[in-house]
Amino acid sequence: MLKDFGAHPADRVPKAELHAHLEGTIHAPVLRTLAARNGITLPDGVLDEADNYLWTDFNDFLKVYDLATSAIKTPEDYYDLTLDYLERVAAEGGLYVELLASPDHVFNLGMTLKDQLDAMVQAIDEARESVGVEARISQTIVRHYGPEKAIAAATAIADHPHPYITGFQMAGAEDAYTPADFRPAYDIAVDAGLRCTAHTGEWLGPDSMRETLAALPMVERLGHGVRAIYDADLVRELAERKVPFEVCPGSNIALNVFPSPEEHALRGLWDAGCVITLASDDPPYFHTSLGAEYRFAVDVAGLSVPDLYTITRNALQAGFMDEATRSALMMRVAASEAA
Ligand SMILES: [Zn+2]
Repeated sequence: MLKDFGAHPADRVPKAELHAHLEGTIHAPVLRTLAARNGITLPDGVLDEADNYLWTDFNDFLKVYDLATSAIKTPEDYYDLTLDYLERVAAEGGLYVELLASPDHVFNLGMTLKDQLDAMVQAIDEARESVGVEARISQTIVRHYGPEKAIAAATAIADHPHPYITGFQMAGAEDAYTPADFRPAYDIAVDAGLRCTAHTGEWLGPDSMRETLAALPMVERLGHGVRAIYDADLVRELAERKVPFEVCPGSNIALNVFPSPEEHALRGLWDAGCVITLASDDPPYFHTSLGAEYRFAVDVAGLSVPDLYTITRNALQAGFMDEATRSALMMRVAASEAA
């Protein structure tokens, strides 16, 4: 939790995020615990002595991410890290989280999707009881693993349905293959009843975003999408179509997507009338948290506390959840705002 939590006006706003990679949420002490009980020595270059994740650029980040993830070995590990993250989000006022799960990581660990899913479901149920946070799972394919692996992962996902698995998307290197190459995997997900989003507009610009939206018309939200800011026509179109953005400022700043925090696209997209949501992506890697993202929106982007309530409502409205869950969460937001 943020050190001085409660001291900032953003802290009292209920929060929701649609973009948190499960393996990227692991708090360093939890990672050390998992490694120790699995008899694994974390390789040099993963954590420093102050428990910061060490990486230098995006490619190195992906390498460290895989090294850290290799400490996860058992369903119990997934239970522990999922519960730990949901408790930490709830401690900062989080009501709802969409966890991005990666079947390819699970396969690499030699675990089955069912093992992982059972553990996550148990943790989600536990967190709802203990801290009142709700969560759903968005299954993720890794773009740079290629279309064949994407189809294999999508097929495995379709074979393991669960009411908590509600989303599907692609992540990974935006310049790998073309969006159209992943249409077959997306079609499998749609046939399985999943709603779709896609990482786009984080590394590549407006042309790539247009290509993604044209090739994958089932994509309802933009994972990042922030580079739309370089094309006023695209921003206008996305605002008119009310396409929600999953904006992750801490991640973008850590990875130098924009030259400085002040130049981040959040404010420009907001002023253009885009549907903005805030999320933390891979929070400990980027020295952020959902609470910190909400503070950034006030302190750096100049949004107001009422704006933050709108952002939370946007996320709940755009969240891939059933209507009963949505309306219950909306009521909690309304109660907070009235208080
Ligand atoms: Zn992401």
